[in-house]
Amino acid sequence: MSARPFDATTHDRIAQLGRRVLEGGEITREEGRWLFALEGGADIVDLLSWANRIREHFKGNKIHLCSIVNIKAGGCSENCRFCAQSAAYETDSPRYGLVESESVLAAAEEAGKNGVVGLGLVAAWRGLEEGPVLDELCCQFELLKQSGKARPDASLGMIRNQRVADRLRQAGVECYNHNLETSERFFSKVCTTHSYQDRVQTIRHLQQAGIRICSGGIIGMGENREDRCDLAFALKEIGAHIVPINILNAIAGTPFDKQEPLAPLEALKTIACFRFILPRQEIMVAGGRVVNLREAQSLMFMAGASALMVGNYLTTVNQPVEKDLQMLKDLGLDPRWDKHGFSDQVQQPAAAGTGAVTA
Ligand code: SF4
Repeated sequence: MSARPFDATTHDRIAQLGRRVLEGGEITREEGRWLFALEGGADIVDLLSWANRIREHFKGNKIHLCSIVNIKAGGCSENCRFCAQSAAYETDSPRYGLVESESVLAAAEEAGKNGVVGLGLVAAWRGLEEGPVLDELCCQFELLKQSGKARPDASLGMIRNQRVADRLRQAGVECYNHNLETSERFFSKVCTTHSYQDRVQTIRHLQQAGIRICSGGIIGMGENREDRCDLAFALKEIGAHIVPINILNAIAGTPFDKQEPLAPLEALKTIACFRFILPRQEIMVAGGRVVNLREAQSLMFMAGASALMVGNYLTTVNQPVEKDLQMLKDLGLDPRWDKHGFSDQVQQPAAAGTGAVTA
C-alpha cells in the first residue's frame, strides 16, 4: 500500500484554525464539523499538536484532578442505556443505600493526599427533591467543606426545584456534574425516561444558584461525528466549566453491551476537537480511558485534556492513582491547582444570571 501524499491544504487549514483559537478567536460549527471529519494518522497528529498548544496556552502545565464517591448505588429508575446502575438492566453492579458521612470523609482524606481538587458525591437516582435525603446530603456537604480536604462537588441527578439548588449552594456545593451526554438529536437513543431538555433545565437551576457546571458526555454509544460536534457546541453555549469526556466502556447486561468500541485515534481526535471548540474549559478524560485508549492513554494530554478523573469510577475500576500521578510526572505536568481548582473565567450565558459565582 502506498503512503498517502502529504496534503498541505489540510495541514494549513488546521494550523489556521489553531492560530485563531490561540489568539482568542472561535471556530464555527462548520469548521468544527470539518475537524471532526478528519481521517488519517498524519492529519490527526497535526490536529493533536495544535490542541496541545491550545491547552498549554490556556492551562499551562496544570492538570485538574477530580475523584468521585458513590454515595448511593444501583436501582435507578432511569433507563440510560449505557448505565450499569439502571434498575431496567441486569448487571453485576452493586446496590446500596445512602452511605454515612464517615465514608465521604474517608474519600476526602484520600483525595486530599493525592492532590485531587474536587470530590464529587454521586448518587444513582432520578433526581433530588426537598426532604430528609436533601437534609442529610446538605450535612455531608457542610462536613466535607469544613474538612478542607477537597472542593465539595455533586452529581445527584435532576433538579426541578430552584430551592433544592439553592440549598446545595448554601451547604457548600461549588460544582455540580450533570452531563448532556450526547447531542439533542441522539439523546432519545440513549434514554427515554427523561429528556435532553430536562437536563438543560437542571443546569439552569444550578447556574441560577451560583453553582458551577461540570457537563460533558459519553462518546462511542453509536452517535456520529456530527453528534459529537453538536455536543461540544451545546456545552459551550450552556456555559460548562468542566467538560468530562467518557468513552463508552460497554457493560454486560446493558443495551449498549455489544457496541463496537471507538478506535483510540478517533477518541483522541474527539478530545482535540473539543479543545478547539472549548479552549478555556477544563476538558476532563473520565470513564473508559484505560480500556479504550490503552497504550495511547498519555496522548490524551497532547490531544488537549487538562483534567483527569482519578480513582475508581462508579461501576468500573480505574488504574491506581499512583500510576496516574507517575504518568503526569513523566509528561512534565503538574497535578496541582488552587483550592477551588477553577483556572478560567468561562463566559456564562446571560440568561442564566450566574454573576454571583465566585472562585
Ligand atoms: Fe440513573 Fe444516572 Fe444511571 Fe441514568 S446514568 S440510569 S440517571 S444512575
